[in-house]
Amino acid sequence: MVQKAFVPYGSDVSAGTYRCVDCGYKLSSQSLEHLPPCPHHDSQPHTKNGWAILSGQGDAPDDPYPKS
Ligand SMILES: [Zn+2]
Repeated sequence: MVQKAFVPYGSDVSAGTYRCVDCGYKLSSQSLEHLPPCPHHDSQPHTKNGWAILSGQGDAPDDPYPKS
């Protein structure tokens, strides 16, 4: 089973690479404790307000956006 990883802003996370599910912005961090809002949040419509996990959970980097 393929599990789509979605984590809302402010979630506790470990180091990894994340992608904004709304605009596709990629966030990489080695020392995040909590996920920040997307830097584009104020300039573009964001309705899901969360990040998709690109690394660290076995998800493929080119996996399509989670849809649910
Ligand atoms: Zn975004």
